[in-house]
Amino acid sequence: MSTPAADAPLTKNHRLVYDLLNEHGPGRHFSMTQLFELARTRRPGIGFTTIYRALSRLRDQGLVSEIVIPGADGAVYEPVGAPHAHFRCSTCGRVEDVHYTVPTAATSRIASDNGFRVDTVELSLHGRCRDCIG
Ligand SMILES: [Zn+2]
Ligand SMILES: [Zn+2]
Repeated sequence: MSTPAADAPLTKNHRLVYDLLNEHGPGRHFSMTQLFELARTRRPGIGFTTIYRALSRLRDQGLVSEIVIPGADGAVYEPVGAPHAHFRCSTCGRVEDVHYTVPTAATSRIASDNGFRVDTVELSLHGRCRDCIG
């Protein structure tokens, strides 16, 4: 099987996955299984492998973010948008956007202190959400 070029146009099925994510907008995070269920409501014959391939492709093309949060069962996906952090509720498992980015000065400092080069920063906060505190 050939791998399509990174800038090749999206196939109909890949476009569907991308559209589903965009329709729900930033701030919603879908697992692969949730996207599969959603996609099937539009295109009943679609297979799980297609969703898997679509997400890998969209991620590689920089259209979709794959978010891996410690403690979560699997990755969740959202359209690429402004950088932000995530909060995961340890009780109900929901993942919410947090409008925060680690200041560049802090990252640069850590990088120079340790001799790293930092390319990306993923920040996740863990605790209990509003519904689960009560
Ligand atoms: Zn919760
Ligand atoms: Zn997010």
